[in-house]
Amino acid sequence: MIISKSGIYIGGSQLIIIDYIINLSMLSLMVSTPLVIRSYLNLNPLKQLRIWAGLYAGIVSSVLVSLSFQDQGYSYDIRYAVIILVFAYLGPGPGLVTGSIALASRLVASDNWFPAIAGWLVVMAVFIVIHKLTLHIKPVRRYMILTSSYIVTYIIIVPIAFNVIRDNPVFHLQYLLFVSIGVLIGGLLIESYEKLYRIIKERKRMEQTLEESESNYRLIAENTSDLIMVMDKEHAISYFSPSHEVVLGYKVPELENIEICKVIHPDDVVNFRDTITKIMKNKEPLTVEFRFQHINGKWLDFESRCMPVMDDAQTIEHIVIISRDISERKKAEEILLQSEKLSIVGELAAGVAHEIRNPLTTIKGFVQLYGKDNKSNEINSLLLSELERIETITSEMLSLGKPQAIQLNQANLCDLIDHTVEFLSPQANMKNIQFSRSYLGADFFITCEKNQIKQVFLNIFKNAMEAMPKGGNIDIKLQKGIDGECIISVQDEGCGIPEELLPRLGEPFYTLKEKGTGLGLMICHKIIKQHNGTVSYHSKLNNGTLVKIRLPLTN
Ligand code: ADP
Ligand code: MG
Repeated sequence: MIISKSGIYIGGSQLIIIDYIINLSMLSLMVSTPLVIRSYLNLNPLKQLRIWAGLYAGIVSSVLVSLSFQDQGYSYDIRYAVIILVFAYLGPGPGLVTGSIALASRLVASDNWFPAIAGWLVVMAVFIVIHKLTLHIKPVRRYMILTSSYIVTYIIIVPIAFNVIRDNPVFHLQYLLFVSIGVLIGGLLIESYEKLYRIIKERKRMEQTLEESESNYRLIAENTSDLIMVMDKEHAISYFSPSHEVVLGYKVPELENIEICKVIHPDDVVNFRDTITKIMKNKEPLTVEFRFQHINGKWLDFESRCMPVMDDAQTIEHIVIISRDISERKKAEEILLQSEKLSIVGELAAGVAHEIRNPLTTIKGFVQLYGKDNKSNEINSLLLSELERIETITSEMLSLGKPQAIQLNQANLCDLIDHTVEFLSPQANMKNIQFSRSYLGADFFITCEKNQIKQVFLNIFKNAMEAMPKGGNIDIKLQKGIDGECIISVQDEGCGIPEELLPRLGEPFYTLKEKGTGLGLMICHKIIKQHNGTVSYHSKLNNGTLVKIRLPLTN
């Protein structure tokens, strides 16, 4: 408020302007100081310390009161600028605190209390009402409305109610202008600091989010079992995930120095290169399968998803290649394929066997009839025994196709092996082959279909014999395994089986023999599987073969 001391006012002088600039500078300094401090203290005191801020603003306004300057008998100060700003930014509570301190300092500074107190009461009431009405608008607009309402209130109270207009109207205009400029400068300072503060906070938040997402991605890249590679435009690999060390055995720096195509299977390199070229051309992700070489030389199957990463101009910057080891899946697929083949062969065999059995019965009948008439005919009995052989084979083949109700009995494996060896011994003697048997125990009882198990032994012993054209020893061992099963090991001294062919054993029609059928082991596998057992082979070329059959023992 303005105090008129002498009642005469004559125009503005340079002195007033200098005084006023001092006031404004003081206001700016005192408004900026807490804002600057706040930008260093990472907190939001404007909200948490509102009353303290009101107190501080009260001090600012009393400093401004003490700096009030006299001109032509009038006293100017811009304490109301501070009060308006506090109401606009902090609300009525802190506003009243500031206002009260400002009023007290004004009362201390000079007399003429009545207009000061009355004006103060009216202005405070108006400010509280305005604040209530402008709760939801931005502080900038609020302080503009508050300033306008202050001007209106001032015009109503001071010149009209207190009848001060006669003194000098220019003086009142000048005063209102000064207060408005004070509010404007203070508000601008607060707004610009707020904006800076928001920008800094936003940037910090963004940096933090960026850091978090980066560390998340790093976590994924460094802990996945998939292989992640990043290829640049020049087809050089710029990133290898650490999973390469675990999956392929190479250290990442080692890989960086090897040309990538050197660890890809030579047969797959062309396909891999073609895929990359296609991605570069079509800018679309593709999937490619290839083999990677483990540091130990073993080839592993991988399925890779190659994704182009483009810049804003839609040119490819990188290709991200994520590869997954699918060796296990491939193996499972192969097993599935083989079992499918098996079932088809089984069905075919059953069909063929069925067709053979009918004419066979007729032939057998006629041969028997013929035998009755010519009793001493040796050829006849030979024919009959051969026909019976065909009959057993066909019924075996039939058994392949449909699961027959097998008769399960308890049998001692020692007996089954002994019988089979006895059965084969004439042939073995002729080929200069000896069977040696060692049974580590006497009771190896299993629940089985005896004839089927005998057939398994027959096939496997015969294979061993056929692998030793120059004769030798076949060692048969019977022992108990750690899981309470029994293990039958058959070791021969024959030609052996190359390692890469081991997985093919048991495949239908897989044979290396001129007169072989390639069905023996397939039938063996089927029978052992039916008896809940397993068959495994250990062999090297020219080093003999060890066949191990595991079967559960009867308790
Ligand atoms: P076949 O005896 O009619 O050839 P099998 O299914 O019994 O059919 O055997 C398949 C193939 O497995 C044989 O041709 C042979 O090459 C190989 N094989 C099986 N057992 C042995 C063995 N003990 N020693 C060497 N090769 C074997
Ligand atoms: Mg065989």
